[in-house]
Amino acid sequence: MEIKLVTVDDTKSEQIKRAIELLKSEKQAAARNGNEDKANQCWRELEGLELNILFIQAFNNLKSKCYRQAWIEFEQCEIKYLFISKNSTQEFLNTSRLNFIQDKVVKFQSLYPYCLFCSPEFKVGYYSCSICGHKVRPRSRCEHKKGMLYNGELCLHEVHEMEMLGISLVTKPVQKYSVMHDDSTLDFTLIESLVSNLDDAFEDWNLSRTKMKFPIERFSRVSKDHMCPCKSGETFGACCIDKNEVEIPHIDFIFSKPLPSDAETITFPY
Ligand SMILES: [Zn+2]
Ligand SMILES: [Zn+2]
Repeated sequence: MEIKLVTVDDTKSEQIKRAIELLKSEKQAAARNGNEDKANQCWRELEGLELNILFIQAFNNLKSKCYRQAWIEFEQCEIKYLFISKNSTQEFLNTSRLNFIQDKVVKFQSLYPYCLFCSPEFKVGYYSCSICGHKVRPRSRCEHKKGMLYNGELCLHEVHEMEMLGISLVTKPVQKYSVMHDDSTLDFTLIESLVSNLDDAFEDWNLSRTKMKFPIERFSRVSKDHMCPCKSGETFGACCIDKNEVEIPHIDFIFSKPLPSDAETITFPY
């Protein structure tokens, strides 16, 4: 069965709903009958469909400038990809577009201006296996491995008697959703200009990071207490003010189709 799954409307189609219901009932039946391979295959297809749907939603949120919502969905895509990829072949990851999605998720994330996150610290009483309920201890483990698939179900370690110890601010978070910024103060123009040139979530694109040199005269209006345009994190006065040229990190987007010639102009915020 061919399913069209590209737009948000496609994700809500009767065809998709029926396909998901069918896979769920096939998975249950296979698990009941002890047909582990079939149950696992149904799990993969279900998760693959859900990951495609999540990615389409995230792309749609970028188009609507709901950047935070898309950020949260991209993280969910990443987590799903991690578990699916542990339990499937490269061929499956390619034909279900999951490798494409993961590649784009990482690239979209790299274009976000977020750099500060909060990270909760917990004390954990104990973990238990989600498949058999076994209390996991250093010298007492069950036969199930965390993140692996058993009869159509993923083995996770459930946390018990969790105690919150505190919160710290970090730049590389374990959970990416805990962004500490007010989006209205941030610049999303990179993502905005990228997605304005993409017709749908599965159009291919790439990016290359380079540096471009600009003569110092172009920065005559930057005060010496302002952050340096080279993005070193220093002030202009302490960094590039005495150089002849300023090197600015630059991102080139590479599209699979030719763009109208006015689409690529460089604007300076100074
Ligand atoms: Zn177990
Ligand atoms: Zn500088």
